[in-house]
Amino acid sequence: MLTSPSDYYGQSSYGEVIGHAYAAQSSTRVDARLLRDGAGLRLLADNGDVLYAGPPTSREHVSGGPMLMRFGEDWTFDTDDVKGANLLLGPSRDSWLSNLEIWHPRLIVVLALCCLGVFAVWKWGLGLLVAVAIALTPAALVSSMDTGNMAAMDRLFADPTELSQTDQIMVRDVFENIKAHAPDAPYGDYTLLFRKADQIGPNAFALPGGTVVVTDALVEEFGDPDILAGILGHELAHVSERHSLHQLYRSLSIYVLVALVAGDVGPILEDVLLEGSALASLAYSREHEASADIIGVKTAFAAGYDPAALADFFEALSHDHGDGGPEWRSTHPSNADRIETIKKLAAEQ
Ligand SMILES: [Zn+2]
Repeated sequence: MLTSPSDYYGQSSYGEVIGHAYAAQSSTRVDARLLRDGAGLRLLADNGDVLYAGPPTSREHVSGGPMLMRFGEDWTFDTDDVKGANLLLGPSRDSWLSNLEIWHPRLIVVLALCCLGVFAVWKWGLGLLVAVAIALTPAALVSSMDTGNMAAMDRLFADPTELSQTDQIMVRDVFENIKAHAPDAPYGDYTLLFRKADQIGPNAFALPGGTVVVTDALVEEFGDPDILAGILGHELAHVSERHSLHQLYRSLSIYVLVALVAGDVGPILEDVLLEGSALASLAYSREHEASADIIGVKTAFAAGYDPAALADFFEALSHDHGDGGPEWRSTHPSNADRIETIKKLAAEQ
């Protein structure tokens, strides 16, 4: 029974625990108690005789069983009051608390590594998760993003094309040429679609699965094959480099990405991925636009077109339409910088 509170550092406390003592080489068991008071720690027989004075030379405790202590050569003491014994004796050398003290320097290193790990996840984890999510995204899911987005676009703001057959054939020829010289489509094949969508003006954009949409206004205002080649080369680059998937996954929360990586694509995620507005509202990053410009210029040149024509298009676009709106009307870096870069790239070909 403990008679005084344990001290703060868990070293030991005054009190006693009841148990049994055995003399060495004897099976005789006597009632005994372990007592700590002002005179120190002692093993006492029931009649008050001091069997041993001082701390035990060793102690063992198997989880769930009694605690066994040896006092010198002569006495063994066991008690079921393990908790009381621990309070009385203080923590044993192998308790977690003393381990902690022994491993203090190592603990600091472990904590430092943990902090570094958290920093690394914060800094590079999202990019890594995005890369893994893209690698794990099944082609069928990417194709259904195209289908879902086209359905939403047709429902919301696109009408069937009114371009003449001649115009359509001309654009399709350029498209086939560019396709033949562009990096391979990562999911299925590149597909060209025409739509009358006055709301987005002269425009072209690509969906992640390889569907490329050209608006009537683009062909009507910029029906030059060299310009179309630059634009289509740029759009196919967005597909081959998986830019929309990068943007889409980057805009999703870590939680959703983890679900995707874990292979648990729930109904909510499917809604997000297939909902038309999700992709339509995304703007490519500056890096993605620059990378698509470089690949587009190279592709247009390889296919036999004048790669500098894309710069003409930008000049006309910024003059006539200003900035704002999706893809070709909200391009960053700013058009002036971009025109310079494209001219430089084209001159290098
Ligand atoms: Zn672009």
